[in-house]
Amino acid sequence: MRKLLIWAVLAVLAAGYWLIQRSPDTVAAQGAPSPLVVIDPGHGGWDPGAVRGAVYEKTLTLAVALKTGLLLQQRDRRVYYTRSRDTALSTTVIRDLNQRAGLANRLGATIFCSVHVNIESTGTMAGPIVYFTPTSGSSYRLAKSVSRALVPLAGQVRPPRPIRQWVLNVAQMPAINVEIGFLSHQQDTLNMQSAAHQRQLALGIAQGISQYLGR
Ligand SMILES: [Zn+2]
Repeated sequence: MRKLLIWAVLAVLAAGYWLIQRSPDTVAAQGAPSPLVVIDPGHGGWDPGAVRGAVYEKTLTLAVALKTGLLLQQRDRRVYYTRSRDTALSTTVIRDLNQRAGLANRLGATIFCSVHVNIESTGTMAGPIVYFTPTSGSSYRLAKSVSRALVPLAGQVRPPRPIRQWVLNVAQMPAINVEIGFLSHQQDTLNMQSAAHQRQLALGIAQGISQYLGR
């Protein structure tokens, strides 16, 4: 009889432990939505961004952004684009940038990732560079992760660079700007127009973001 009592007590304890393991917190965590990545293809509509002949920055950023989003969705991330076609978000640059970051803030995004194209006067620099807001440690970690994933395309280990950029400052979550290449560099311009190169860039960005998010 005593043995039976001990087994009964043990059974009650085990049931209690099982219930604690399934406390509302645990259940909520299991059902939590996956991280939301807001991808922001730079420029659009009336604002072409950097231009080289018939090549517009706004076209390149959109192509890479859409490919990046698709790859993240395949990894079970939620993705929201600030634009998914050739359109501006407002009639002035500042309002347009405020809209982009404001959108990410309102959605409670986990990550904000702008995509742009670089340009410089010597025509010698090529490859992607990741920029982040210097005051944000998490933005730096995100930028580092994406930079590392882009090393094969950059052709070198290129550390992320701090920058004070309006759109990154307005965003209230880890925020980066991936400059995918240089429109001032002839070969880079050709590369950025190729679907295969765009996919490599997208793979790097998606992989860097996924690694930052922990998977
Ligand atoms: Zn730009």
